[in-house]
Amino acid sequence: MNRRDILKRLSLLPLAATSIGSAALAATREPLPETDPARTPGAKLPTAGNTPGEGHDAAAAHTPPAVTRDLFAELGVRRIINADVTMTFLSGSLMLPEVLEAINSTAHDFANMFELQDKVGAKIAELLKVEAAMVTSGAACAILLGTAACITGTDKDKIKNIPNLPGPRAEVIMQKSHRYLFDQAVTTTGARIVEVEGPDEMEKAFTPQTVMALFFNAAEKHSITHEDFLAIAGRHNIPTFLDAAADVPPVENLFKYQKMGFSLVTFSGGKMIRGPQSAGLLFGRKDLIEAAKLNHSPHEAPIGRPMKVNKEEMFGMYAALKSYLDRDHQKEWNGWLDRAKHIATRLAPLQTLKTEIWTNPGPANAFPNLIVDWDRQHFKITPKEVRQTLQDGNPSIVTGVHEDKLLIGVVLLRPDQVEIVVQRVKEVLTHAV
Ligand SMILES: *Cc1c(COP(=O)(O)O)cnc(C)c1O
Repeated sequence: MNRRDILKRLSLLPLAATSIGSAALAATREPLPETDPARTPGAKLPTAGNTPGEGHDAAAAHTPPAVTRDLFAELGVRRIINADVTMTFLSGSLMLPEVLEAINSTAHDFANMFELQDKVGAKIAELLKVEAAMVTSGAACAILLGTAACITGTDKDKIKNIPNLPGPRAEVIMQKSHRYLFDQAVTTTGARIVEVEGPDEMEKAFTPQTVMALFFNAAEKHSITHEDFLAIAGRHNIPTFLDAAADVPPVENLFKYQKMGFSLVTFSGGKMIRGPQSAGLLFGRKDLIEAAKLNHSPHEAPIGRPMKVNKEEMFGMYAALKSYLDRDHQKEWNGWLDRAKHIATRLAPLQTLKTEIWTNPGPANAFPNLIVDWDRQHFKITPKEVRQTLQDGNPSIVTGVHEDKLLIGVVLLRPDQVEIVVQRVKEVLTHAV
């Protein structure tokens, strides 16, 4: 999937959500068989025993314990296997055991939330080798809080009144090609976005109202490079914000952009860092993080009050980041490649089938996937139809389509789901001979 596909997909999400919704309805009429491994996630599939990539720590670590109370069944909610990339409507990513442990082990005591945010933030800042950090309710919240911080500073009156401040609206500079769905988090503060294209236009766009310049890292096109963007904003003494929400791996990106000089940087907690889905990281300049905290819960009145982060998510976000930083990333990567190769080997007996490992160049979702294609005269079904059939099936499996080929994402699969995906893809294709 290239960046354009990702953006297109972002804008298609509500549609995709709808089709999942109807699939879910269909499924309630057709209960899963008792033996279906998707129903009892702790159950071992007889064939999944020695799947390459399963021995790999991070992958093996997220095999869930057997459930005693099945809340999915109790509420009639379908379990979905995500053989694609992290998506908000599919609940982001799966938290690792150490994150769940952080949540469980801290749930039994109260804490002062001001102190917790300060202490967790200080620890995260230390881990990321940056001045200051905080936990937000996701990257979108971080964009809103960062913008609010640039507007209000520590001014109590402004914090109390934003987004209804007197006088002309604050202005945030963005490249025209960087405009995206998430910039509504900017305008929610009352600020307006001033679009520029190229360094010359940016140079001329600053006014007394300019408070911030926002850079969308995974945009398809940059008419201004990171370096020029920073230099120009720096000459005008305006803080810069970089949205890198989905831009790990590689782990180095957590350090790269703040080192380049961005005043504020955000990453989602609930994507490949595998923290709580509704958590995120905002880090950078100390004065701006302080101002962002003043605009956030647990303060009672500010604009960020409805974007509360709970105690367990704060501990969980810290645990997830620490685990992510401590991980052997080469080993994790090799585990993904092994898994993609394993699926390719299992599918190889299908006539005319071709597979290829494709690594998304990023910066968002920069990890390996398996691309599968076949002779449409032999298997008379298109990749889009396969995708839909898998999604509508039992269990529901979400795959992708990349350049009119089936994309099987490997990084979000639990070890015990690999074989289920193989079997279902085989079934759907062989039904179409
Ligand atoms: C996912 C994403 C967001 C939103 O992140 P949340 O953590 O879900 O709030 C913002 N910007 C980009 C580029 C994203 O990919």
